[in-house]
Amino acid sequence: MSQWWKKTLGQSLNSSGVSSFLNVAAREHHLALPHLSVPDFRWIDWSELERLGFRGVVLDKDNTLTAPYSFSLFPSLSGSLVQCQAVFPGKVAVFSNSAGLYQYDPDGSEARALEESIGGIHVIRHGLKKPAGSAEEIEKYFGCPASNLVMVGDRHFTDVVFGNRNGFLTILTEPLCLSMEPFVVKQVFILKKILSMYVFSI
Ligand SMILES: [Mg+2]
Repeated sequence: MSQWWKKTLGQSLNSSGVSSFLNVAAREHHLALPHLSVPDFRWIDWSELERLGFRGVVLDKDNTLTAPYSFSLFPSLSGSLVQCQAVFPGKVAVFSNSAGLYQYDPDGSEARALEESIGGIHVIRHGLKKPAGSAEEIEKYFGCPASNLVMVGDRHFTDVVFGNRNGFLTILTEPLCLSMEPFVVKQVFILKKILSMYVFSI
């Protein structure tokens, strides 16, 4: 199997992620419910979040900010990202299961490439894939507890579960472009969506 496939499948089909998914689905499905759901990033009212007392924003990368495996900001999001940075100056960061994760980006080159292409927004380096791990690296970067921060991402069982477990306000977006994902990843997404509908209905 090529390195690309290993990495691509690994980012979506990691064993700890599957285990976490099953645990959450069986016992803690409330953790996968976001506080807010929006079609995409542009629907978020950054000023209102700031007025409510939130002090910073943590963004997922793939399918939230960029197309999967891309280091370029999704073009239609640029205006909203500028607004977000204006409302939360110096208090916006990326927390991804690809760029900045030691497992897939050991030398930080992907994190640096992303930082350069999104106007210097910091990519937090970390060791455990969402939803595993704590918010320690994030709280250290922002200098405040996770309860003062907003977590924005496109996946119930990674971004939302991680955010809810650690006390963030969680905002779920629809994936930007599922069509660019490999076939197997699309099937997993569809399966998770079906299971999510089942889990939330019981
Ligand atoms: Mg994502």
